[in-house]
Amino acid sequence: MICSRCKEEIPAGESYDYFGQKLCEDCYMAALEPPRPCDPAAVSSATATRKQLGQRGTDGLTPIQKRIYEYIKEKGRATREELVAAFDLPRWELEKQFAVLRHCELVRATKEGNQIFLTLW
Ligand SMILES: [Zn+2]
Repeated sequence: MICSRCKEEIPAGESYDYFGQKLCEDCYMAALEPPRPCDPAAVSSATATRKQLGQRGTDGLTPIQKRIYEYIKEKGRATREELVAAFDLPRWELEKQFAVLRHCELVRATKEGNQIFLTLW
């Protein structure tokens, strides 16, 4: 059996049914827990954890998250396309990092005209 998402071979008995697709365990878990950039519960738990740890600003971020934050800080605002190009990141990776920055209330998306810019919170 082949996983419908990652196309890897799934060992017998380890496939999961997800809306009619056969998925391996990893893809199934990822499908059940998609990144949720706008989840208020995730935001409050992320900020609460940071407060508990006494983290402010970019404390506790990974190097790439800090670099994205600094880039936006320097430019004032940036589009996703710009960040993908500047950091040579796949789009999904940027979304993942942006979700964390957003959870920590450091970076947010704002719409101007028909373009979305990422700016500091
Ligand atoms: Zn898979």
